Amino acid sequence: MTATSASIDAAMGQLIAAEEEHVAHNYHPLPVVIARGEGAWVTDVEGKRYLDLLSAYSALNFGHGHPAILAAAQEQLNRLTLTSRAYHNDRLGPFAAALAELCGKDLVLPMNTGAEAVETGIKVARAWGYRVKGVAPDAAKIVVAHGNFHGRTTTIVGFSDDPQARQDFGPFTPGFISVPYGDARVIDAAITPDTVAVLIEPIQGEAGVVVPPEGYLRAVREICTRRGVLLIADEIQSGLGRVGETFACDREGVVPDVYLLGKALGGGVLPVSAVVADRDVLGVIHPGEHGSTFGGNPLAAAVGLRVVEMLKAGEFQSRAKLLGEHLGTKLQELVGHGVTGVRIVGLWAGIDIDPAVGTGREVAERLIGRGVLVKDTHGQTIRIAPPLVVRATELDWAVEQLRVVLAG
Ligand SMILES: *Cc1c(COP(=O)(O)O)cnc(C)c1O
Repeated sequence: MTATSASIDAAMGQLIAAEEEHVAHNYHPLPVVIARGEGAWVTDVEGKRYLDLLSAYSALNFGHGHPAILAAAQEQLNRLTLTSRAYHNDRLGPFAAALAELCGKDLVLPMNTGAEAVETGIKVARAWGYRVKGVAPDAAKIVVAHGNFHGRTTTIVGFSDDPQARQDFGPFTPGFISVPYGDARVIDAAITPDTVAVLIEPIQGEAGVVVPPEGYLRAVREICTRRGVLLIADEIQSGLGRVGETFACDREGVVPDVYLLGKALGGGVLPVSAVVADRDVLGVIHPGEHGSTFGGNPLAAAVGLRVVEMLKAGEFQSRAKLLGEHLGTKLQELVGHGVTGVRIVGLWAGIDIDPAVGTGREVAERLIGRGVLVKDTHGQTIRIAPPLVVRATELDWAVEQLRVVLAG
């Protein structure tokens, strides 16, 4: 090792140490310090390149530094970044119109993070319940699913069943009923006259890319319509091209009453989230009842508008579908060779690692040594969500690295 690379090595150690020393330990990052990104690739502080197969949990659907997104952001950065919603700005209207059209809905309520979109969806559903459905004050119930992940705020973790997410963070907000995921009949059984909404992920990402049985979403849609309950689809991770369609609900031809969007809506540049619904639902919110200082800011709106424009042609959706089919075939070949199961939909996969080979974390760490970034979830699973701009040959190469790592 040359003196120069030794000192860079030391610099990397110092950067990790500085995080350990001064950043709260609410994450346990894999040992890589990223300094640059372009497309599906990132470069660490030592100049070593990695194929990014996580893309910030699907927030980087268009890859790092997509030129069209950067151009929209840069043009807006030089013009106007923040007004607050005390005033109108010239970017929010066009963004909301385009996003509403993409969703086939009337109205958009812009927020920043995914958790805020979920919180907003909960408030909207409750207000709709009291003001439109006629539920008695403070009696509203929302049905959610086991294994859900909807974010990290206190209300949201209150209806998670992951002990790590909940432990020591109570007391929790009442009004949620959790039922097994993937069985529509238990949703029907859980609904009472006080139920205002069913809140589900069309595919459970954090749980390990858990795909419900075919027909589940259609059945839930039918139940919600018949019982007079809103269907809220948390498409924060599954939406905007990831699964080979614009929305995961599209796979079953289902239109929810409320879309919750985030992650990729910000183009990997900044947090942008939204609740999208028709006027008879989202119209229940009146001035002063909900808001956010940064929600709908012109920079976010300019980036969000560009993202929506990029999704219009369907090119990213088809890439996800075709590349996903290709990747799925390659990954299935690993079953029985260090992999016990693969779930894949679009360009989004949960890969269950044989405990004999190691934990998900250990496999992720070994892949770093081979220039591939993935992320473990729930012990034995690694989750991949490559940028939709990735090439088939790059995916082949990454699967080859995984094969080598699994072979020990
Ligand atoms: C990431 C995620 C959230 C929370 O989004 P944040 O931006 O991290 O608050 C909510 N729901 C789903 C399905 C997610 O994947």
